[in-house]
Amino acid sequence: GLMSTTTLSNGVEMPWLGLGVFQVDDGQEVKQAVIDAIEAGYRSIDTASVYGNESGVGEAIKAVDVPREELFITSKLWNKDQGYESTLAAFEATRKRLDLDYLDLYLIHWPVPEADLYEDTWRAFEKLYQEKKVRAIGVSNFKEEHLQQLIKSSKVTPMVNQVEFHPHLTQEPLRDFCRQYNIQVEAWSPLKQGQLFDNDVLKKIAAPHNKTVAQVLIRWDLQSGVVTIPKSTKIHRIKENAAIFDFELSQEEMQTINRLNKNERVGPDPSTFNKR
Ligand code: NAD
Repeated sequence: GLMSTTTLSNGVEMPWLGLGVFQVDDGQEVKQAVIDAIEAGYRSIDTASVYGNESGVGEAIKAVDVPREELFITSKLWNKDQGYESTLAAFEATRKRLDLDYLDLYLIHWPVPEADLYEDTWRAFEKLYQEKKVRAIGVSNFKEEHLQQLIKSSKVTPMVNQVEFHPHLTQEPLRDFCRQYNIQVEAWSPLKQGQLFDNDVLKKIAAPHNKTVAQVLIRWDLQSGVVTIPKSTKIHRIKENAAIFDFELSQEEMQTINRLNKNERVGPDPSTFNKR
C-alpha cells in the first residue's frame, strides 16, 4: 500500500510514492496540499530550495497528527549554492525553513557541469550525512558520466538519483548503471506534466483496469522499480494518484509502455543546464 517502501543502499526505508510540490505556492496552497496528501496516507514529500515553498511544507508537517519519524522529507540544494561552505549554509537554511531537526533525503538538484563544483558539494553532503543531519544523500539529474566522476572521488555513493522519467523518456541505460551501483532511481515529472493523458496506447491499457492514464503511469513507475512523486494540489487527484496498489500491469502491458520511449524531455538536458 501507500506506505510500502524501498530499502536504500544504507538501509533507510524510502516510500515508493510521494507528493511532488514543484510550482506550488508557499503558504496556504502548499500547506493544504501536503496536509491532504498526508491525511490520504502519503508519507513522502518532495520539495526543493528553489521551489520557494519549504516553509509551507514545514507548517503542514507540524499541522498533521503523524509522528515525524513516519514521514520522509526530501529537499534539494539549488545550483547557485554548490561548493563546500555554501552547501553547508544552504542546508542549514533549508532545515530552518522546514523547521526540522533532520531531513530524510537531500539531493544535489543538478550537476551544473560548467561550474564543476558537484564534487566539492558532495564533500559537504558526506559531512551532513556523517553528522546525521540527513538520513540519506543523493543527486538529481545526474547522467552516467556525472555519476561516474562523483563515485570515483567519493567515500559515499549517492543513494538516490532523481531524474526525468516517463514513457517518452525511459532512461534504460542510466537505470542499468544505477542498478549496478545500488542507486535508487526516482522519477520526476512521472506524468510528463500532463502531456501523456491523451495517448491512445495508454488509454487502451487503462480502460480494462478501470484506471486512469495517470494511475497507469504511476503503476508503471513502481513496476519498473522507480520511486515516483506525481504532483497535484487537488485532493481528488492526490487520492487518485495513490490508488495504484490494487491492480497490476501485465508483462505485455509493461513492454507496450516501454516501447513508447522517444528519449524526449519536458525539462532541460542536464549536460547543458548551467543556470545558477
Ligand atoms: P507531473 O508529471 O507530476 O505532472 C503534474 C501535472 O499533472 C500537474 O499539472 C497536475 O495538475 C497534473 N495532474 C496530476 N495528477 C493528475 C491526475 N490524476 N489527473 C490529471 N492531471 C493530473 O509533473 P511535475 O510536477 O513536474 O513532477 C512531479 C514532481 O517531481 C515535482 O512536483 C517535483 O517535486 C519533482 N521535480 C523534480 C525536478 C528535478 O529537477 N529534480 C524537476 C521537475 C519536477
